[in-house]
Amino acid sequence: MRLYEKPAHVLHDMLAQKEITAAELTRDVLARLDETEGQVQAYLTVTRESALAQAEAVDKKIASGEEISFLEGIPGAIKDNICTKGTKTTCASKILEHFVPPYDATVMEKLRAQQPVILGKVNMDEFAMGGSTENSAYHPTHNPWALERVPGGSSGGSAAAVAAGSAIWALGSDTGGSIRQPASFCGVVGLKPTYGRVSRYGLVAYASSLDQIGPLARDVTDAAHLLNIIAGHDEMDSTSSTAPVPDYAQALTEDVKGLKIGLPKEYFTEGMDGDVEKTVRAAISKYKDMGAEILEISLPHTAYAISTYYLIAPAEAATNLERYDGVSYGERVDGEDLVQMMTNTRTQLFGEEVRRRIMIGNYALSAGYYDAYYLKALKVRTLVQQDYTEAFKQVDVIMAPTAPTPAFRLGEMMADPLQLYLQDVCTVPLNLAGLPGLSVPCGYSSKGLPIGLQIIGKALDEATILRAAYAYEQTQSFHNDMARIGGND
Ligand code: GLN
Repeated sequence: MRLYEKPAHVLHDMLAQKEITAAELTRDVLARLDETEGQVQAYLTVTRESALAQAEAVDKKIASGEEISFLEGIPGAIKDNICTKGTKTTCASKILEHFVPPYDATVMEKLRAQQPVILGKVNMDEFAMGGSTENSAYHPTHNPWALERVPGGSSGGSAAAVAAGSAIWALGSDTGGSIRQPASFCGVVGLKPTYGRVSRYGLVAYASSLDQIGPLARDVTDAAHLLNIIAGHDEMDSTSSTAPVPDYAQALTEDVKGLKIGLPKEYFTEGMDGDVEKTVRAAISKYKDMGAEILEISLPHTAYAISTYYLIAPAEAATNLERYDGVSYGERVDGEDLVQMMTNTRTQLFGEEVRRRIMIGNYALSAGYYDAYYLKALKVRTLVQQDYTEAFKQVDVIMAPTAPTPAFRLGEMMADPLQLYLQDVCTVPLNLAGLPGLSVPCGYSSKGLPIGLQIIGKALDEATILRAAYAYEQTQSFHNDMARIGGND
């Protein structure tokens, strides 16, 4: 077994026991990257030299007898919308093609304090708008389990790298499902924390009231450790929570006896893929065997969540993306005068989906339509939140599929954006409510494509969803399977 196949917690122990060196590990993961990248194309920037230098620094520390922290010397990848000082952060957009942030996002500062090895920046849908990574202005990423299929999105590069072994862990961001859905499509664990649990400072904003950074990892233990590192209040993000951060890794026990699990009937929708439904239901039945209690619940406003999200997110995006005007940030396309320059810049350097969302958002916010669309969407958002508040009076966690289908084919959804928006049916409602959600691998479709079980928790109760996921993980071995890189069907 090669080193890239192991999760971070195993590699950490091997480093601490001096069974391996960080340089050996980094070289193995870089070799894996070289073997797979031609087909998978998860990365936008690979920082090979600094990665090896970071590994060597860790080895010196270990040799001198110093203790190492959890992530020390362990190679990972960062979604390209998280600002990395001195390393390009493009958001997979032409408009930020040469943007090198002069500062680190708070999550990067927290990570760097642990001295991990940063392998580079990974692909995504442009400005995180999409669910397939096909909206990247550079290239699509391929699903390591089936190369002609998408890895999901928008954190598709993060999920594909972890699945392919070209990273041991990764950070992504989730505004409407962008950590969980690619995790599900690529057979890895993805956690979207409660809104405010992790600082958004230095995350390039898509929809500020929904965005949240979180980990993608090989297993639940790694996800818990990663959350330990990145969670917590940050004075640079006034929406970050001041609630104390528990030790999430400590919370991982196999005990789910008496846990009340709600199954929302609205999440098992008619259009759902048969393999997804069967696999997810089989996973949930394991909880029954472990002594949990399963209850059918209703989240009655679920049907409105997608329309609500696709008004609120574009409205916020239209506002956030105003700053790319050819002057303050990013690239410029010249024109005869100022207005022409800005028009040229924005029409030529934003991709089609980004322009579509800016149009929808500005329309929804314009005088005359504001009340009918934006304000109404905010009201419905409150109803979606109230559904969860009611449900969590009866249950401790909610379980559902992460996505209604396994990974679809590249190009399959590109002609019809609405079809792609419908993919988000099980993921966007909890972003609207600000709740935490996790996707854990729970099996495969008849074609061998990974399927994810989604576990949704109460606000700031990541510990319970991680524990529930961990208990399930102990009953099977899907998390040990590495993607086979290939498998065209
Ligand atoms: N698919 C959703 C969208 O396109 C979610 C994206 C995300 O979470 N960043 O908006």
